[in-house]
Amino acid sequence: MSEQITSKLAMELENKYGAHNYHPLPVVLSKGKGPKVWDAEGKEYFDFLSAYSAVNQGHCHPKIVDAMVQQAQTLTLTSRAFYSDALGVYEKYITEYFGYDKVLPMNSGAEGDETALKLTRKWAYEKKGIKDGQAKIIVCENNFHGRTITIISMSTDPDAKKGFGPYTPGFIEIPYNNLEALAKALEDPDVAGFLVEPIQGEAGVMVPDDGYLSKAYQMCKEKNVLFIADEVQTGIARTGKLLACDHENVRPDILILGKALSGGAYPVSAVLADDDIMLTIKPGEHGSTFGGNPVAARVAVAALEVVKEEKLAERAEKLGKIFRDEMTKVDSEMIEMVRGKGLLNAVIIKPKNGKTAWDVCVKMAENGLLAKPTHDHIIRFAPPLVISEEELMQALEIIKKSLAAFE
Ligand code: PLP
Repeated sequence: MSEQITSKLAMELENKYGAHNYHPLPVVLSKGKGPKVWDAEGKEYFDFLSAYSAVNQGHCHPKIVDAMVQQAQTLTLTSRAFYSDALGVYEKYITEYFGYDKVLPMNSGAEGDETALKLTRKWAYEKKGIKDGQAKIIVCENNFHGRTITIISMSTDPDAKKGFGPYTPGFIEIPYNNLEALAKALEDPDVAGFLVEPIQGEAGVMVPDDGYLSKAYQMCKEKNVLFIADEVQTGIARTGKLLACDHENVRPDILILGKALSGGAYPVSAVLADDDIMLTIKPGEHGSTFGGNPVAARVAVAALEVVKEEKLAERAEKLGKIFRDEMTKVDSEMIEMVRGKGLLNAVIIKPKNGKTAWDVCVKMAENGLLAKPTHDHIIRFAPPLVISEEELMQALEIIKKSLAAFE
């Protein structure tokens, strides 16, 4: 079924036949290019969500699409029962790109996190000498690492967690951006790892204090605890550096990537680590039918090449500053705070006359810009990193005009 349908019908179909596990804005998208998307009736929008930072390289980047189409016409899936002529090439490329001995390829971000958790536990028993079944992993309050049972077991968000027990044990929750709490948790000799988002994206772009990551890393080293960075949302140039950890020169022991690793073209995630950690997992102990498939491998190489060729980290750094500067100047009672790094930013909205962040997003959509509230009162602004300065200024005008409608 490929005929053009109206937005109204598309929404009816999703509501009737799809599970109600999302609450989308009432916009039906049918085309994307660079920083823009178009709805089923041809209305144009700036995309300021970028599929939760998956589309950093812009919608339908020609180089990424070419790599995908070419490989799709040649060989799509081998499973890992055999070698492929694409996987090793990708593995060499990505490990050299990020500076690790090895990569373990998966598909979704959640699978990347699950992989990192298994790897940490395995390392704990084989290398650190923690008694079997006793390993603990420190996580942060308000984290978001995905939706599997184990991942929601370490969540503190009641919406993510409630009604899905029993939960996986083995996690210690501490407040984010709190080194004292980390020091206390690290006193437990059964702690194997500290899993952290360098900026908490889903929590509303919570940027920790300068020095938090480097100090936390150092404290982990002192206790022989693995520092595990979930850069699924913050990685791949989004925050103005290739990795958000680069802002503090921290090299995580385990690095988790997803989303923009494919430029949004395909589900590709990866876990990177050195041999000492990675080789604790042996054949048959972990994997995925689709993980590291030839299409994913070619797409990821192209997506990573685009990041370097188009200097996306530098662009994010420069344009992010402009965005925050301009937003801080906006005279609106509804803006409580503007925060972020690179092009991962958030505006905290103070409700006015019963109008909330959701209403602001609906108004912005009317005016041609798409963003989505997180936690009721926060709007994340994260356009594709290929947006030009001129387009960013146009987008800012739309945001200002939309906020002005509530004055
Ligand atoms: N980790 C972080 C930091 C994320 O932001 C997300 C998704 O938003 C995930 C993991 C999960 O990724 P996925 O939805 O691809 O499973």
